[in-house]
Amino acid sequence: MNTQTTRLANDNYQPLSPYKFLHHPDRLAQFWEHCYDVTPVTAHLAPTLYCNQRCYFCTYGQYKEHGKNSMWQMDIRDLKDCLDQLAENGIKGVIFTGGGEPTIYPHLVEAMAHARSLGLDIALNTNGYRCSDALLDGILLCQPRYIRVSFNNGRALTQRLVTGRDNFQQVLDHIARMAERKASLSPATDLSVGYVVNTVNVHEMLDFLRHILGIEASVRRKTGVANPIYSVQFRPVSNFEHSKYVADEERLARLAAYLGEQYGQAYRDELEGFLFQGQQASVATMQLALETIQTQLVPALAQDGASKIKIVYPERKYTDLIARAEKPYPLCLSCPWYLFIWPDGNLYSCVEWAGNPQFAIGNILRERLADVLAGPARREMADKINQGYLHHKCVAVCAHHEMNILLNRLYADGREKADGNLGDVTVRHENFL
Ligand code: SF4
Ligand code: SF4
Repeated sequence: MNTQTTRLANDNYQPLSPYKFLHHPDRLAQFWEHCYDVTPVTAHLAPTLYCNQRCYFCTYGQYKEHGKNSMWQMDIRDLKDCLDQLAENGIKGVIFTGGGEPTIYPHLVEAMAHARSLGLDIALNTNGYRCSDALLDGILLCQPRYIRVSFNNGRALTQRLVTGRDNFQQVLDHIARMAERKASLSPATDLSVGYVVNTVNVHEMLDFLRHILGIEASVRRKTGVANPIYSVQFRPVSNFEHSKYVADEERLARLAAYLGEQYGQAYRDELEGFLFQGQQASVATMQLALETIQTQLVPALAQDGASKIKIVYPERKYTDLIARAEKPYPLCLSCPWYLFIWPDGNLYSCVEWAGNPQFAIGNILRERLADVLAGPARREMADKINQGYLHHKCVAVCAHHEMNILLNRLYADGREKADGNLGDVTVRHENFL
């Protein structure tokens, strides 16, 4: 490892580790044959676009605000066929995710059970708002590798203004119940809480951590399980042209006014710039986030003494956002390693551009996945992205930023020099890229 890549191997990555792809030697062999002919390891599957929240920064918010005519929910027979094809083609992990909120999908448990029956590893991203006993137990009995609850505020007021739902305590209670139930039904499931750091919540990170530590302590007392919550994950927000919910003007005006009163005009301007001018989170916000993680959250966890929660954060993303660095790689090489499946069956090779039909490489409900993977569309899309989008329209730091750094380094060094040696890098959830 050189110094550029050493930091990517730090313990603070773990489930977000960009080294996961090295755990798939069969895919690496394909990569060396042709870097765009890798059989995807992971499918991000959005069964529905419906959601019970309206977060202002939602990655796919504009598609949902304006996409009234597209197919919002996948039929369960189509979804099962889709899972069959994923298994037949050697995909290893399926993340049930948004799109919308997967727990809104009425057949979620049936779909997860079907995936497991096919030998697929599964995981769930949820906002934690919908969590009946039957739903939760059904999900846990499918033994997902992880559940990540996306909960992005430290206070009830901002949760309401950001999501449009007055559900702060309810979601905290649900996280506690998930932790308790998983202790008996699926102890191997990693339960984590994700926090997308943005200009609204950057001052609430410690409040958030304290709430989660409180849940951990209480569940530990009740169940005797030492580590009922695996991690808290702090990822920086991104702003795509298709991101954001902006229709609820009154709520967003109250949110902006709140920020102005609490933290000053600069924060208010930043929110409005994000919402209405497509601006990214500011350098100051990202700097504050990284400093807060390293100088407040990590020490707070150490002080707790009993906590086993890990603080996970992609440090390189923060430092590159702070440096306002150009993308440090000439090619997007991560796309072939995963798929994103929209509820209408469209297949995408990028998580961020998913939902925009101009980026679809095929449709799993109308074509066989094997034909799409073997056909020309993937390479053509890779050319389109590398030539027209990578350095102009993709955000500077996307979800697979660090993976692209490593893959480009590997590609530049060549097969002979690449040793694929993981050393002491800690990687979790290797089937979920
Ligand atoms: S970010 Fe998640 S919870 Fe929020 S509106 Fe989007 S899909 Fe729903
Ligand atoms: S660089 Fe662009 S195309 Fe590649 S993964 Fe990131 S957002 Fe997607």
